[in-house]
Order: sequence, then C-alpha cells, then structure tokens
Amino acid sequence: MKNNGIKKIIISLLILNFIILIIIGILIYNYIKLCSTEPVVSDFIFSSKEEYNTEDLEIISNKNQQEEKKIKSNPNDWNLLLINKSNKIPVNYSVELSTVENNQKVDSRIVESLNIMLQDARNQGLNPIICSSYRTNNWQSQLYNNKVRKYLSLGYNSEKAKEFASYWVAIPGSSEHETGLALDIVSKSYQILDEKQENTKEQKWLLENSYKYGFILRYPKDKQDITMTNYEPWHYRYVGLENSAYIKENNLCLEEFIEYLKEN
Ligand SMILES: [Zn+2]
Repeated sequence: MKNNGIKKIIISLLILNFIILIIIGILIYNYIKLCSTEPVVSDFIFSSKEEYNTEDLEIISNKNQQEEKKIKSNPNDWNLLLINKSNKIPVNYSVELSTVENNQKVDSRIVESLNIMLQDARNQGLNPIICSSYRTNNWQSQLYNNKVRKYLSLGYNSEKAKEFASYWVAIPGSSEHETGLALDIVSKSYQILDEKQENTKEQKWLLENSYKYGFILRYPKDKQDITMTNYEPWHYRYVGLENSAYIKENNLCLEEFIEYLKEN
C-alpha cells in the first residue's frame, strides 16, 4: 500500500513537470516570435493615438519628410532676388507695398509672415521694433551720401570714403531695402545699430527663430567676406520658409545659397 502511494506521488510530479515544461515552451516560442517581428511606421500611425505621444508621431513624420526633402527653389524666384554690390536692382523692378506697424512699408507678399513673427516675439514678452524697411532709391542715396561725407570729414579721400561707406550703407541701387523684402528690427530697449544689438533678448530670439517665419539674418558675422557687408545683427531678409530653413540648417548666406541652387 505504501509503495502504491509513493508511485502515485511520483507520477503526479512527473505530469506536473511535463505541464510546466509545455507552458515554458509556449512562452519561449511567443517571445522569439515577438522579437523577430519589426514594427513598421504604419503600425504607429494607425495604432490608437493614446498609446503614442503625438510628438513621437511628429518626429516620425518629420524624419520621413526630411529624407525626401530636396530644395526645389529656383534662383529666379521673387523671394530669392539677390541684391548686392555686383547685383543691382533690375531697372524695371516694381513692388507692391503695404504699410505695417510703425508706419513702415514692405513688399505686400511678406506682410503676413512678418506680422506673425513679431506677434510671436511679443507673446514671449519681447519688444521688437521695425526701425527701417522699404526705402526709395532717393532715400538710399541720401543715407549713403551722409555716410560718405562722414568719412570725408575724417580725412579719407573720396575713393576710400565711398568704399568704407559702402560697408555700412549699401550703394544706391544695391540695397535690399529698395526691394521691400528686407527690414531692420531692433530692441525697444536698445535701438542703436551696432554689434551690441546681438546681446538684446529681442535679437537673440530673432537670430534663433526668424527662419521659422521665412526670414534670414542677411549679413552674418562669419560671411562678411562673401556678402561684402559688415555684420548687421538687425537686418532681416525674407526668402520664404523652405529657403530660410535650408539656409539656417546649413549655415549659408544668401550668396552661397543661390550659388548652391545654380549648381544643383
Ligand atoms: Zn538694413
């Protein structure tokens, strides 16, 4: 009788062991199957949104867009008009102007982007002021001649005075201000156009964020030998959203970007 009892216990233990082994086997099989199946992007997109942070979705979609992204801009696009010492404003250039805050005038096509940028800056508690925008050729001539006179009064000859003046005030016909696509923005708390402008919280914000609205800093510090213009941490130029993002991301100035477009 005693032997029979022991036999039953051993058989029961063997059956139990067998069942446990089968369960472990099923678990291992499922685990391996799970690891070998890679989720695809559509699994994320079409899964319940609550399971995934919307930021994750944005990152996935931005990544896909960037991979496909190729600049399709044409250097002849209106917003890429290159004006500098070697590229004067076309003779028949005409611009439709709109008046914006502070009684300034800009090309009507950039008004919306400009207003949103300034509003967003103000929403951050900042006080940007447009101190200069569209200028007629006459007005540009007056500014330029004033600067030349200043250098003449310092004792420079006519040739040198004109050269030095041109680093600060564009020669009439070669100023972006005559297109209505550029404007000077300063901090309300510091309205002097010198390098210290870059230290104001308004410029810090604009330098970092203006590209999100289609604007670029036109005369960066590290591009003075290409732009042939002194560093101006207040002069912003509208080039359009796609272009501004590319220029910012690749640390280009407008001259370099247009060269890049022509080569590709
Ligand atoms: Zn300017």
